[in-house]
Amino acid sequence: MSNRRPYVGGNWKMHGELAGAVEVTDNVAAAIGEAAEAVEVTLFPPFPYLQAVGDALRQCGIGLGGQDCSPHLEGAHTGQTSPAMIADLGGSAALIGHSERRNELGEPDALIAAKTRAALAASLQPVVCVGETMGEREAGIALQVVERQVRAALEGLSGAQVGTSVLAYEPVWAIGTGITATPDDAQSAHSMIRSLLGELYDDELADSVRIIYGGSVKAANAAELFSAPDVDGGLIGGASLKVDEFASICRAAVSA
Ligand code: PEP
Repeated sequence: MSNRRPYVGGNWKMHGELAGAVEVTDNVAAAIGEAAEAVEVTLFPPFPYLQAVGDALRQCGIGLGGQDCSPHLEGAHTGQTSPAMIADLGGSAALIGHSERRNELGEPDALIAAKTRAALAASLQPVVCVGETMGEREAGIALQVVERQVRAALEGLSGAQVGTSVLAYEPVWAIGTGITATPDDAQSAHSMIRSLLGELYDDELADSVRIIYGGSVKAANAAELFSAPDVDGGLIGGASLKVDEFASICRAAVSA
């Protein structure tokens, strides 16, 4: 890992209930302790628990984010949550384009680009997820798919906007499956993304953007994955609800 500050996100998906969410938050904050200074950690609880988790996180140095946001800033959009509402509850980030939304809800690249722009307009840090399916990997087009997704999500953004964003490479076949990409596979996708940022913007920006890996990261494999030179931390699903596992992953990001 370079001198980029490592980043670890905890995506709780649609798990848990209110009391458990607050308990996990308290325990995560205690378990991560001082490591929270050396690694940027953000929790992404389900929307209904955002405020309670935000209250529990207050002043502990761990960030709060939404698992999605509307592409609209306000208005008649039933069931959606605007980026400003996330910010209003103390959130500073939003996951955009998670594969469970791309695939279950059919979110296309253009919608993901609009959500990224909306998040930035509300001063949220977008954590933009990209990644190929197993079919695309087997067809030998994994890197082309990821490149297309990155180009689409960043369309029209300034270098300064991209500089505040985080990109998450999450091969779909590795999410929630217990199968992880090898550090070499992760590195080749991350290095392609970084080169693309250099081509679209400049080398200084490319060198500064955090590109994190997601897909069955756990305490046992985090250090190896994070040791790849262009892997700047992780987006953690299942293991983010296990306090000790998550804290170990955060510490692995610091030591990588
Ligand atoms: C995720 O939800 O982004 C994820 C990577 O999940 P898991 O760690 O469970 O594979």
